[in-house]
Amino acid sequence: MTMQSRSEQDDLALIDAIEAWAEKELRPVARQFDLADEYPHEIVEQMKQLGLFGATIGEQYGGLGLSAWTYAQIVTKVASVWMAPSGIFNSHLIMASAIERYGTEEQKQKYLPRMATGEFRGSIGLTEPNAGSDLQAIRTVAKKQGDEYVINGSKTWITNSLHGHGTLLLVKTDPKADPRYKGMSLFIAEKTEGFIVGNKLKKLGYRSIDSCELSFQDYRVPVANLVGGQEGQGFFQIAGGLELGRINVAARGVGIGEGALKMALRYAQERSTFGKPLWNHQAVQLKLADMATQVEGARQLVKLASLKHDAGERCDLEAAMAKLAGSEAGAFCAQEAMRIFGGFSYSVEYEIERYYRDCMLMCIGEGSNEILRTIIAKQLIERHKI
Ligand SMILES: Cc1cc2nc3c(=O)[nH]c(=O)nc-3n(C[C@H](O)[C@H](O)[C@H](O)COP(=O)(O)OP(=O)(O)OC[C@H]3O[C@@H](n4cnc5c(N)ncnc54)[C@H](O)[C@@H]3O)c2cc1C
Repeated sequence: MTMQSRSEQDDLALIDAIEAWAEKELRPVARQFDLADEYPHEIVEQMKQLGLFGATIGEQYGGLGLSAWTYAQIVTKVASVWMAPSGIFNSHLIMASAIERYGTEEQKQKYLPRMATGEFRGSIGLTEPNAGSDLQAIRTVAKKQGDEYVINGSKTWITNSLHGHGTLLLVKTDPKADPRYKGMSLFIAEKTEGFIVGNKLKKLGYRSIDSCELSFQDYRVPVANLVGGQEGQGFFQIAGGLELGRINVAARGVGIGEGALKMALRYAQERSTFGKPLWNHQAVQLKLADMATQVEGARQLVKLASLKHDAGERCDLEAAMAKLAGSEAGAFCAQEAMRIFGGFSYSVEYEIERYYRDCMLMCIGEGSNEILRTIIAKQLIERHKI
């Protein structure tokens, strides 16, 4: 779908097309790929054709230029069927968004058109073995030598790093800087000599998609790949991308919740105990009602944060609330659906166990829910100072 300027009808048609694709192409293979922990190459090719790798990249660079709200709805549709594939284009698009927002024109021209088609697929390389929530504690260091930087250090949990082509790499260009964030920079790191991809980590859920350890050993990257061309901006640039990142994770949580609820609604009508369908028991009704209410409440918060983001307004409070509510709705619904499925929930013949294994990541990634609660509280005080 290429277009000059998108209309609401275009967006609705795209959301419908993605929903139909997810039902037709993802649902039948999700369990098999997940249990085998196998990368879905064919699905990636289909996602390229659908334009998903360019979903939020500007039309001038060959992307679809979708709003955050349209994108969030697409992510929800995909995650309601199988969450993992949404990660293949999601962290890629966070990298693209950092380049589009903060990169030099040369960087945008060089990377964005190839990223929009999925020819170059990216990842975000932030977390290190000693630093996740406290990103300012990272130890990977870049030292300038002529027209290159030489990078040494290691990263972990970097999703898309085995099958992708490069990463948005957060490093220290001045490890002694005080405050620490002033010494941090971002690089567009392509896979060349010294960029070493370790083993694919074995995970509870979010399988099929590759999350790996990376090590950088005298890895040389051209000065031209320093995002924005100026040292010391990395922490600010990453923080800028986090609002959209949190909306995306929130949308994935809503998707998991929606998918788990749908399965529970079906099973509660199919299965009978004590002479009546499960849903006729009040205890099961309470679960279904609470699940639906959490999903719809979280969806409204995703919408609120997305619309603010699309209007160019500050939305750190709303994005944090959406991420908290969306991920908790996903976790709540997956767990309640497990209870409704009873013993069968433990069988890998049923898909609900995958939702249960996938859901907790939404509570941990893109700012853990504990960290997010502290952000929400600080924002509330700032906005309601006495
Ligand atoms: C499957 C998977 C995929 C991932 N993909 C990527 C990726 O693509 N790129 C990437 O860079 N990273 C990725 N990550 C890493 C992820 O972002 C981090 O795991 C996350 O940020 C948490 O960091 P941590 O694991 O170091 O936990 P820690 O920071 O050590 O936190 C441990 C616990 O302490 C709590 N805590 C820490 N500090 C505070 C505080 N100040 N106040 C209250 N509570 C606190 C946390 O909430 C958490 O419960 C991935 C992780 C997983 C599991």
